[in-house]
Amino acid sequence: MTAEFFHEGDLVAVLTTQPIDRFLDYKAPEGGCHLGAFVEVPLGPRKVIGVVWGAGSGDFDYAKVRRVMRVLDVAPMRDEMRTFLSRAADYTLTPLAAMLRLGTRAPGLGDSQAMRKVYRLGTKEPDRVTAARTKVLEVLRDYGGLSFTCKELADMAGVGTSVVKGLAKMGCVREEDAPRDTPYPALDPDYGGKELSADQAAGAEALRTALRSEGYGTTLLKGVTGSGKTEVYLEAVAECLRMGRQALVLLPEIALSGEFINRVEARFGMKPAEWHSGVTVTERRRCWRMVGQGDAQLVVGARSALFLPYQNLGLIVVDEEHDTSYKQEDGVLYNARDMAVLRAAINGAQVVLASATPSLESWANVEAGKYQRLELTSRFGEAVMPKMAAIDMRSEDLPGGKWVSPTLKRAIQQRLEKGEQSLIFLNRRGYAPITLCRACGHQIGCDNCDARMVEHRFLKRLMCHQCGETKPMPTVCPHCEAEDRLSAVGPGVERMGEEVTALFPEARVAVLSSDLYGSARAMKAHIEEIAQGGTDIIIGTQLVAKGHNFPLLTLVGVIDADLGLQGSDLRAAERTFQLMRQVAGRAGRAEKQGEALLQTYQPEHAVIRAILAGDEEAFWAAEAAERKAAGVPPYGRMAGIILSSPNVQEVFDLGTEMARRDAPLRRIGAQVFGPAPAPIARVRGRHRVRLLVKADKTAPLQQALAQWAGQFRLKGELRMAIDIDPQSFY
Ligand code: ADP
Ligand code: ZN
Repeated sequence: MTAEFFHEGDLVAVLTTQPIDRFLDYKAPEGGCHLGAFVEVPLGPRKVIGVVWGAGSGDFDYAKVRRVMRVLDVAPMRDEMRTFLSRAADYTLTPLAAMLRLGTRAPGLGDSQAMRKVYRLGTKEPDRVTAARTKVLEVLRDYGGLSFTCKELADMAGVGTSVVKGLAKMGCVREEDAPRDTPYPALDPDYGGKELSADQAAGAEALRTALRSEGYGTTLLKGVTGSGKTEVYLEAVAECLRMGRQALVLLPEIALSGEFINRVEARFGMKPAEWHSGVTVTERRRCWRMVGQGDAQLVVGARSALFLPYQNLGLIVVDEEHDTSYKQEDGVLYNARDMAVLRAAINGAQVVLASATPSLESWANVEAGKYQRLELTSRFGEAVMPKMAAIDMRSEDLPGGKWVSPTLKRAIQQRLEKGEQSLIFLNRRGYAPITLCRACGHQIGCDNCDARMVEHRFLKRLMCHQCGETKPMPTVCPHCEAEDRLSAVGPGVERMGEEVTALFPEARVAVLSSDLYGSARAMKAHIEEIAQGGTDIIIGTQLVAKGHNFPLLTLVGVIDADLGLQGSDLRAAERTFQLMRQVAGRAGRAEKQGEALLQTYQPEHAVIRAILAGDEEAFWAAEAAERKAAGVPPYGRMAGIILSSPNVQEVFDLGTEMARRDAPLRRIGAQVFGPAPAPIARVRGRHRVRLLVKADKTAPLQQALAQWAGQFRLKGELRMAIDIDPQSFY
């Protein structure tokens, strides 16, 4: 049992955000401090931020133990947050200090609650009345007792800030100090609900009942795109707000556009707090603080919003739960979907996993009875799922270097005649994936990585999609120096743009690819314009599969449905299935019936057949059987170990030694595979070697991995990253 409060001079154990893998003893400061307090402590010559994690160990000479410098002006970290960080650290085999860094990513955390000047109506009348002064006073009278910053007030009155300052000097306007970070306006759970269809209403009621239990539970909310899932989970948010608990909606980063925020505003009357990379530093600071003092009821954010200091979290929604961007692939390797479930279990909160195409993991958890399942069967309103058909490319007559089959071309032509939109989907950015020298056969690769450079014609450069390196398009082959023999091989979206423009010279064609925009805002504006009908034919990468709504779209043509089926990734089939369903779901979202045509060389492949039949249960059952037989996730456990170094010999030596000294793994019946060059064997000049560990579902994998990895010293430039439940196999 640890004390809840430490008096001045008591020993406390502090976890800092520094890469030191243990607690440090300090003396509690004057006035004492609470368990969980955020503190500033001296560390060598520096001041660092930490959290009081418990009583000190007393292992050091009391006289030499230093004192906590100050307690920060934020609410102490709650017990459940410390439990969450500890368990997440254990699960991901990440040092606790690195977890704490995720929990303290608030700009200006160490600053005292900053104040700013605000202005409200005073009692005096101005000695001399001017038009500008009158405007300022009118604004203040209109808004009753509200106060504004000088700039806000001046802008609203349409005058310069000096007018406000002048009025303040005379006492006509009162100047006051107010905290810089203000609470978010209250959301009204009963502001703007829609009338729900029967299965929406049933779903909403089930979620409300679950929330009222005030315990933990996870529900998979499944329904095709446009079936009204968002509408249903917003009802769960409403119930959570009524109960006075906080709610979090996680979206894949790319979907965090204003569209969703507007929807929240329409439902609850006010905007929620936002937490993602597109939010300003000021707003992030406000969000962190207000969540911590319970003055933000709803947060809409990206995966790191899980680490905000909620005071009373009652609901976490993970929208598009299958989305791979929930897996953090840098630094701390965690899957936000799984961490959401962990956090909710600790907090006694509910989780809603929403998706049209759930991950096999979630499907298996439903099968095992761990998750509830709710299904929205019909699409909301008139729209129905598109008709789907394969175009068998083996019997299409197509010249080399062209990718739009005659069948697809006819379908597009029909849409053009009816004034409807078509989407051509190809999950390849750039102009062409390969640049080949016709004289010597050389393919231009990245100098830093074992990856081919991709030509981007808009940028007039070659780009490495692995490390982002670019170089100008050469005119001579870098290998044999032959002139003008370099040629583009294979299609990218830019090249599709050329082909489609040539096929339909009258049509308005737009290429939609994330790298063509300078900012998220520019991209959003363009997508909006396209959705309004500014384009006849859209050519896009997977960007378009992520939640954008194109009401005029009635045809989707998939250029290469086989693309995702290749490769060694154990989730390749699942990903292809999800992506194709999502893309197909773009067609016919409004009243018109849509059609999806998949160009494929393997129309009899099980995945393609399941997509065409729209038979998800069959697909999942088949996929589950295969994974079960192979003993891989979700029916077995896996971990990836990536070793890297600029020195290729060094990484292989360590990899070989690790594979040999595998006793801690064998003890739990786990097997190690490798070392093998990682699928991308060199990134940013570092050679990468991969080991794969496979264990039974119930084996204590983390413990064994920690023991095993602990046997080896990482000298010099060697690095090791352990990835539990790896998602990507790069
Ligand atoms: P999903 O989240 O499953 O893709 P949405 O909740 O976004 O589906 O619903 C699709 C569209 O239908 C949205 O424009 C939404 O506003 C509308 N919609 C859904 N349910 C209703 C309802 N009960 N009444 C009116 N419009 C609805
Ligand atoms: Zn590169």
